[in-house]
Amino acid sequence: MRYSQMLIPTLKEVPAEAEVISHRLLLRAGCIRKLTAGIYTYMPYGLAAIRRVETIVREEMNRAGAQELLMPMVQPADLWQESGRHEKYGPELLRFRDRHDRESCLGPTHEEVITDIARREFHSYRDLPVNLYQIQTKFRDEIRPRFGLMRGREFIMKDAYSFDVSDKAAEESYRKMYDAYNRIFTRCGLEFRCVEADSGAIGGSFSHEFMVLAATGEDTIAVCNDCSWAANLEKAAIRPTGTQTEVAGDRVPAMERAETPGQRTVKTVCEFLGIAPQQLLKTMVYIADGVPVAVLLRGDRTLEEVKLKNHLGAKDIRLAEDQEVYDATGAPVGYLGPVGLKIRLLADQEVMGLGPVVVGANEKNAHLRNVVPGRDFQTDEVLDLRQICESDPCPACGGTLRLVEGIEVGHIFKLGTAYSEAMNARFQDQEGNDLPLVMGCYGIGVSRVVAAAIEQNHDDAGIIFPVPLAPFQVVILNLGIKDEAITAMAERLYAELGAAGIDAFLDDRDERPGSKFKDADLLGFPYRITVGKRFAESGLIEVRRRRDGFTEEVEAVAVVDMLR
Ligand code: ATP
Ligand code: MG
Ligand code: MG
Ligand code: MG
Repeated sequence: MRYSQMLIPTLKEVPAEAEVISHRLLLRAGCIRKLTAGIYTYMPYGLAAIRRVETIVREEMNRAGAQELLMPMVQPADLWQESGRHEKYGPELLRFRDRHDRESCLGPTHEEVITDIARREFHSYRDLPVNLYQIQTKFRDEIRPRFGLMRGREFIMKDAYSFDVSDKAAEESYRKMYDAYNRIFTRCGLEFRCVEADSGAIGGSFSHEFMVLAATGEDTIAVCNDCSWAANLEKAAIRPTGTQTEVAGDRVPAMERAETPGQRTVKTVCEFLGIAPQQLLKTMVYIADGVPVAVLLRGDRTLEEVKLKNHLGAKDIRLAEDQEVYDATGAPVGYLGPVGLKIRLLADQEVMGLGPVVVGANEKNAHLRNVVPGRDFQTDEVLDLRQICESDPCPACGGTLRLVEGIEVGHIFKLGTAYSEAMNARFQDQEGNDLPLVMGCYGIGVSRVVAAAIEQNHDDAGIIFPVPLAPFQVVILNLGIKDEAITAMAERLYAELGAAGIDAFLDDRDERPGSKFKDADLLGFPYRITVGKRFAESGLIEVRRRRDGFTEEVEAVAVVDMLR
């Protein structure tokens, strides 16, 4: 490809709205352009990187025995009513009516559609096992789309669904996907961890997440320094526990007023509640009629909503969206989330005088009334929670743990029979028994992988694409467009690299050398070949590796072999 023929609108300025590095670099390198919140056009260079990921994903899915299909993006609401998720899914599901007044939605995921396929097409154990996948645009009306491709409303996902005759067979399908995912992310050249995760709302029996380690990750994971154990802490913190209790009922002791502000700390509150601090990494803030009324340190969201409604008699109880806290006028005043970071933010903004609120967890007798955040929570203590977690022994080997940030790029679930029971997708086994299909589902955020790769691979000058994801392996800079010998050599190398099967990109624009160097760094080609003054003088060509700047000057004949 020639630069003169490819639309790569690079930007010199960092767009103000872009908070994280991958978002900034994707915009600056002309990879994406925003249409509206969370919705982007993949420009030619960005799309080329996405296609690289897709190719790796396809090869490994096919190798694992999965078959590709493509399902519709528009889905009838009846299917979602059948599975019970029309109610449950919440506002991320974009719902609309067509001209015949039929209720529809845009697919945020495809369990319903695939289960509908399965109940029509699979009837006997002889039809199984089957694993079907697609690479397709998903729509989720995320409350806070942000970070460019990392959390879009429209994004590209690979989703796969397996169907088996038994639990044991389903576990074998799951294991195949587990292995395929490890190969996929290894082949992408990413540093990642596979973590145990709670399967949460989907209601399966177990699941794993694949996390790319990067400081901007939105998930906190505990990893063992001594073995391969890793877990998603936020997921671990919301595992359902024991019996539920009324919020602030008679049995619930009111919290004593602390003698001096800040005497009670998150830690002592935990002790009081009988909850280990490391279980408290999910904090939820509830708003009633516009005012924050409760801080749930751990809990089941819908249950707590119902209980609070009953207890407070408030009309409108809702979970603060994305843990943002609003005042009575609806203006955001703070941000509560995983305890470690976000309560502090509230303190920083001196909006701690929110209370009194209810603080609690989904535990019997584990709620406190009249708690004033800031007065009753010593916020400095909050940071200790991380240390408390880190001083826990590894559950697998007893080794030491460390907390790191991760970006969820993949997620595999063993679903069991939840969907097949609800939607009546059944088959006959060898003995003629009528049984529900046993399912698994497996997602990869294809477009998010590109963002995650950049989060992990960049420097001040721009992107450093891992070789397997780079749209082009090498860029040839022609620094003498008007010089016949230089141009002839640049063209020759371009042709020879192409013939050798190496994806080369020729910068044949009439631009100053300085801006060609800058763009080459920004776009992140793994190798850069410079044909310029030095070649004219001595016949030497510079080959430079983007990642570490390693540079060699070689004769033209040696170039192709070096890059092979
Ligand atoms: P998250 O926790 O980041 O919201 P999720 O758990 O809701 O993700 P899944 O339902 O597990 O997502 O979907 C499978 C994969 O799709 C995720 O592992 C992630 O890589 C990707 N993905 C999910 N939501 C988005 C999004 N808004 N933008 C880009 N990729 C996404
Ligand atoms: Mg999500
Ligand atoms: Mg998730
Ligand atoms: Mg997930």
